[in-house]
Amino acid sequence: MKLLLILPKSERGWWGKVSRSGKAGFVRLNLPTIAALTPEDWEVEILDNRVKPVDYSARPDLVGITGFTSEIPWAYEIADKWRDRGVKVAMGGVHVSAMPDEALTHCDAVVIGEAELVWAGLLDDLKAGRLKKKYKAERLCGMKGMAIPRRDLLDRKMFSSFYTLQATRGCPFNCDYCAVTAFFGNEFRVRPVDDVIEEIKGFNAKEFFFMDDNIVGRAKYAKELFTKLIPLGVRWGSQASITMAKDDELLRLYAKSGGKYAFIGLESLSQKNLDKMHKGWNSAKGFKESIAKIHDAGINIVGSFVFGLDDDDPTVFKTTLDFIMETKLDAAQFHILTPLPGTVTYGVLEREGRIIDRDWAKYHTGEVVFRPKGMTAEELQAGYYWIFKQTYSMKSILKRSLRSRAGLVYRLAANFSYRKKALLMPDVPGL
Ligand code: SF4
Repeated sequence: MKLLLILPKSERGWWGKVSRSGKAGFVRLNLPTIAALTPEDWEVEILDNRVKPVDYSARPDLVGITGFTSEIPWAYEIADKWRDRGVKVAMGGVHVSAMPDEALTHCDAVVIGEAELVWAGLLDDLKAGRLKKKYKAERLCGMKGMAIPRRDLLDRKMFSSFYTLQATRGCPFNCDYCAVTAFFGNEFRVRPVDDVIEEIKGFNAKEFFFMDDNIVGRAKYAKELFTKLIPLGVRWGSQASITMAKDDELLRLYAKSGGKYAFIGLESLSQKNLDKMHKGWNSAKGFKESIAKIHDAGINIVGSFVFGLDDDDPTVFKTTLDFIMETKLDAAQFHILTPLPGTVTYGVLEREGRIIDRDWAKYHTGEVVFRPKGMTAEELQAGYYWIFKQTYSMKSILKRSLRSRAGLVYRLAANFSYRKKALLMPDVPGL
């Protein structure tokens, strides 16, 4: 039996683009994990459509497709083409789990939530000719002894960050606009530290990225993990919450174990916004001090900001840029508030009748798809382009990057990679 797993490309937005050298960014672990969960009597192929076209002349017994909300139109297009050729298609992932009935108009079966506990059953049902429409695990799976993603099925040359892994799942927080808790549930799960260390040793590489949503979500676990990473002499990055600045030992171990950078969701400088999105534990007042502490520990920060929240008006872009320059934030990611299906934000904006565009292709957090409160949709879109361009002007890059010699290479690489995206955006006169 042949299984073809496909990750679609997205032809809109700034994040999923392949680089000029034709490489995709980070290896996403979903399909390599599904491959690892597939019994040995199946022949498995993974096709990352970001870097390779789909060959519809092949004859797999099953096609499995996943994708973020912004990729889902292309996922559906691929699914439709396979079904036109008589091939069964199963879909899963964050978007499909939130919108299973929509997905079922394009495929034969959906996996709702994590696939670990239901995937083998789906394959058995297919073989026996009794494929059901919906497969939903009744509980979250444990992380002990979890399947190691089949990286051997990927072409290493096609990715700029090949070694990615997961030590934890979920996040102890529950921010309204975030799909993490909606998908992974409220439980923050951790993998045995020794399992993580073994997987890293198997990389035979000195640099990797934790795909975790919050690597410091449980401080005690993070400290144990970081302590065991120290002898490996590796370099790594992850997403983390700014709460780590409150724990000196955690910060020290993060840096000492090779943690060179952290993606941190600052989201908004307005405490009112943070409170409203249930991110009140992120204290806007304490941001400057926390950033300074993380910098002093030797860790670069890529801060993430969301615009279009209810307390934002057109001044938010200039205020945020001033903050980035004053704190010498190493890099910043900007997002327009996007009501991803399955999130609290989606439910609220839907009830308030403020969702103005349901073209999922635009749900890549760089286009306005809802009616903001404190400014027009046009002002929000223009402000997003403006702050991106200002932050990644040469003057800004140099001023922030040269704050210290330590970690300079990482800072410059990150800034020039974001600058490429900024240069693709339209100029905004008058801002
Ligand atoms: S802290 Fe980050 S990952 Fe956790 S729920 Fe909030 S936005 Fe999502």
